[in-house]
Amino acid sequence: MLAGRLHVADRVLRMESVRVPEPERGQVRIRVEAAGVCLSDVHLIDGTLTPLYLPGDVVTLGHEVAGVVDAFGDDVEGWEPGQRVLLQAGERDRRGTVFTRGVDYDGGWAEYAVAREDTVVPIPDDLPFEQACIIPDAVSTPWAAVTDTGRTRPGEAVAVWGVGGLGAHAVQLLRLVGAAPVIAVEPLAAARDRATVLGADAALDPADPGFRDAVLELTGGRGLDVAFDFAGVTPVREQALTVLARRGRLVLAGIANKPVTIASDSPFNYFQQALLGHYGSESEHVEQLVSLARQKRLDLSASISDVLPLGEAEEAVRRVHTKEGNPIRLILRP
Ligand SMILES: [Zn+2]
Repeated sequence: MLAGRLHVADRVLRMESVRVPEPERGQVRIRVEAAGVCLSDVHLIDGTLTPLYLPGDVVTLGHEVAGVVDAFGDDVEGWEPGQRVLLQAGERDRRGTVFTRGVDYDGGWAEYAVAREDTVVPIPDDLPFEQACIIPDAVSTPWAAVTDTGRTRPGEAVAVWGVGGLGAHAVQLLRLVGAAPVIAVEPLAAARDRATVLGADAALDPADPGFRDAVLELTGGRGLDVAFDFAGVTPVREQALTVLARRGRLVLAGIANKPVTIASDSPFNYFQQALLGHYGSESEHVEQLVSLARQKRLDLSASISDVLPLGEAEEAVRRVHTKEGNPIRLILRP
């Protein structure tokens, strides 16, 4: 079968012909129908990210995967061939170590993928594979940031910095949980317009000299209850801290690899603000989102920027890397 394999030592992605994997005990094999291309795939290729637990030097990329059940190993019960499913983006071992699919073991940029049974999640018949595959990670990471880390409550004033991929979903999800107003903060005009279509009540340019006044006006002078940094850059953190409300919290969902500075502790303490680190999501978040999609509360149709054949994975990576067309998600189809 065809597979997009990362050779870690020399950081090259190669489209290769490999054997179809056999499901072992406790595993399900799926025929892949769609697999997302994430910025972290780009970072694995450019060397910014390195697999922590990969045995050997080569891995099939792809942690956002959906398809149909194809075969199962011994002692696996309750699955039907042809059943529509998505795969969780990773699995936890007994000691709690998290192994990421397509990073620490073979993922879904391939015609077939095997998965531990408890990481296979059934999806509704009317949820397209392209939309289902991005739920783990691209949608579940912002969902976990909104609901768990940020603990966003209905009626709270919120803003999202960086509405490219994950941040665009954050805007949609904040709308879903009843936050108001939802403010998108983004330098690219096209992305601001798209955020408005996805449900942002206002979209601001962070470079606008009237930025702070605009936020205060939109929030009745209060400032933000929750600010989300999906851009992962220092100026965003600095700006967000200037517009936090009393008991406001800043959720860091993007990674900058830089120190985070609080300009002065006195307003931070006096207003009892908080800085919260966020990473990834749990399996329950993916299940909640599938349930919301089943109940038609979540429409991801606008998130699929383009679909490319699996053989064009390198082209997809190039487009994500250069942000050509400012995609929310590009999808590979075997
Ligand atoms: Zn990802």
